[in-house]
Amino acid sequence: GSTLEIKNLHVQIEGKKILKGVDLTIKGGEFHAVMGPNGTGKSTLASAIMGHPKYEITEGSVHLDGEDVLEMEVDERARAGLFLGMQYPSEISGVTTSDFLRSSINARREEGDEIPLMKFIKEMDSTLDYLEIDKNMAQRYLNEGFSGGEKKRNEILQLLLLKPEIAILDEIDSGLDIDALKVVSKGINKLRDENFGCLIITHYQRLLNYITPDHVHVMMQGRIVKSGGPELAQRLEAEGYEWIKDELGIED
Ligand code: ADP
Ligand code: MG
Ligand code: MG
Repeated sequence: GSTLEIKNLHVQIEGKKILKGVDLTIKGGEFHAVMGPNGTGKSTLASAIMGHPKYEITEGSVHLDGEDVLEMEVDERARAGLFLGMQYPSEISGVTTSDFLRSSINARREEGDEIPLMKFIKEMDSTLDYLEIDKNMAQRYLNEGFSGGEKKRNEILQLLLLKPEIAILDEIDSGLDIDALKVVSKGINKLRDENFGCLIITHYQRLLNYITPDHVHVMMQGRIVKSGGPELAQRLEAEGYEWIKDELGIED
């Protein structure tokens, strides 16, 4: 499995400091959850790792198996095995879901070793079935007119077909009804093995009833202020975040 190592990461947006020293290591085989109140920098962490140009890294490092991720172009990061599921996936007009998936898979393979079309179609169809997605979706433009739930299922479809080393899933549970939540969780759990590490960013504990994290981290004001096991997520669900603020003497 691979290792993603985030060290002392400081990120600012338009001159405003958002992340103030994040340390986090995710290894193949591990599921980590990052939880925290709104506006604490969870999505900023995901976007900065994936190389969104708006997020300026002022200090710290991100390495994937010793390779400097911050030196890589965005498409190189995906080719190196990083996957980002976005809180708000964008619509891509003129590119069908199927074409997008096939070119993404091929981008991770050597030139001349592209996935055979029939093999791709077979894998895509069986994954669509597994995720209970209507087959027509594959021929629609990526995310265009998709409902919130369809976008999230589509992200999991990408995840299952691309088989990244490390995935960062930002609020993959937001706006899902209980059936969609179960399907999305089933998809993520299917990938659990020593060659897959996952960072699950979520505001709510609900998702973690279906996907048991090995490690839970609480982010507040741009830092990870507390880490623990799955029981930490349960305590947050029951008691909210106030007790952590009290414990650590954090002011609003
Ligand atoms: P979370 O995901 O924890 O809710 P975010 O990372 O989205 O938090 O946001 C952290 C802070 O950064 C917030 O104060 C937010 O307003 C600000 N922020 C996030 N993205 C942008 C952006 N693109 N432009 C300006 N400010 C932003
Ligand atoms: Mg938010
Ligand atoms: Mg967010």
